[in-house]
Amino acid sequence: MNGILLVEDEEHLARGLKFNLEAEGYPTKVVGDGETALDLLLEQHTEFDLLVLDVMLPGKDGFAVASELRQASNYIPLLMLTARGRPEDVLKGFESGADDYLPKPFDLAILLARIRGLLRRRDWGRTLLTDPPADVRVAEPHDAGSLREFDVYVFDDKQVDFGTLELRANGNVFRLTLMEAELLRHLIRKSGKIVSRKSILEEVWGLHEDTDTRAIDNFIVRLRKYIEQDPSHPQHLLTVRGVGYRFLPTPPPAA
Ligand code: CA
Repeated sequence: MNGILLVEDEEHLARGLKFNLEAEGYPTKVVGDGETALDLLLEQHTEFDLLVLDVMLPGKDGFAVASELRQASNYIPLLMLTARGRPEDVLKGFESGADDYLPKPFDLAILLARIRGLLRRRDWGRTLLTDPPADVRVAEPHDAGSLREFDVYVFDDKQVDFGTLELRANGNVFRLTLMEAELLRHLIRKSGKIVSRKSILEEVWGLHEDTDTRAIDNFIVRLRKYIEQDPSHPQHLLTVRGVGYRFLPTPPPAA
């Protein structure tokens, strides 16, 4: 494996993490700021399997680093380390393209579990490209309620591959972040039903604090750009005023 790139300016913490990650078999390179990380990934094209990115860094913060990577079409699995008690950081992290987050301080066991989860998904995606496993299911609207993590979901001439995080719609292929995909999967699973913003925060992002739920709207705007023929007149991702959203696999009949 190519190992993990850890961006963390607190030297004591960085040293401890490197020691523990390497003890688990993950070669780990530590850098102390975002600029160095961007240089390694985007300029020198150094290969890593996963990026562990602290939010609080000297110079560019973790959000800026994540945004730059994604804008440069670098989709390395990205685990962001956020400050506990700042749920708005979590949403900001997802908006900037993080795949998962972990509030500091964290247990090593939880960090390792998150890393394994992200690597498993990456491996799965890679396998699919060359050698599709026999048990990947193509799900259609009537299967929506049981939609699984790696299913391919087909609706209205569009296709979402939850294993590779690719969405095909209107002649284009879009690369979803893990969090965009998880939000979409949540809405699809509840096809036809109204899904509140609060339930999205709790069930998709694991946030129980009182967070500004309007942050979800930004995600919906992005998903609409991918899915909808005309994002200003959505046919699939409908807003339910004052409550939340509703996914429809087929457009509603014209009124
Ligand atoms: Ca820091």
